[in-house]
Amino acid sequence: MSLNSDPDCIFCKIVAGGIPCHQLYEDDLVLAFLDVGPLSEGHALVIPKSHAVELADADQQAVERCAAVAKQLGPVIVEQTGAAGWNLLQNNGSAAGQEVGHVHFHIIPRRAGDGLGYRWNAGAIDHDDAGQLATKIASSVNP
Ligand code: 5GP
Ligand code: ZN
Repeated sequence: MSLNSDPDCIFCKIVAGGIPCHQLYEDDLVLAFLDVGPLSEGHALVIPKSHAVELADADQQAVERCAAVAKQLGPVIVEQTGAAGWNLLQNNGSAAGQEVGHVHFHIIPRRAGDGLGYRWNAGAIDHDDAGQLATKIASSVNP
C-alpha cells in the first residue's frame, strides 16, 4: 500500500524520520510513540502512517491495526508506569480538541485521583427525541 504524506504535517514528518520521537512500536501501517506534551507519564500516540485528517477518512486496515496496537500497548504502558487504568481518546475536528490534523489515538495512563479530565456533567435523555435520532443514525450506518 502506498502511504499518503502531507509535507506540512508534523506526524507525517515523524513517520518520515524528519522529526525524532520516542518510538514504542512500528510496522508497515502504524507508528506509536510518546506524546511530547504528556497528560501523564507514558501518554502515547498511535497513528496510521498514511496521512488522513480525521478517523472517517483514514485507511480501514490501518485503523484496525491502530486498534490492535492500542489494545496491546495500553496494558503494557500501565504496567511499565505503575498506572491503574488508561483512557483511549481520539479527537476529530477542532471543536473536539484536535490540534494535529493527522489521525491519532491517545493512550493516557490514569491513576485514581490524578485530577485529569474526561468527566462530563451528565444530561437527561429525552426518550422521544433519542428514539427518532437513533432511528436516523442507525439507518445511515453501513460499515
Ligand atoms: P490532539 O489535541 O490533536 O488530539 O493531540 C495532539 C497531540 O500531539 C498533543 O497531545 C501533543 O502534545 C502531541 N504532539 C504535537 N506535536 C508533537 C510532536 O512533534 N511530537 C510528539 N511526540 N507529539 C506531538
Ligand atoms: Zn500527516
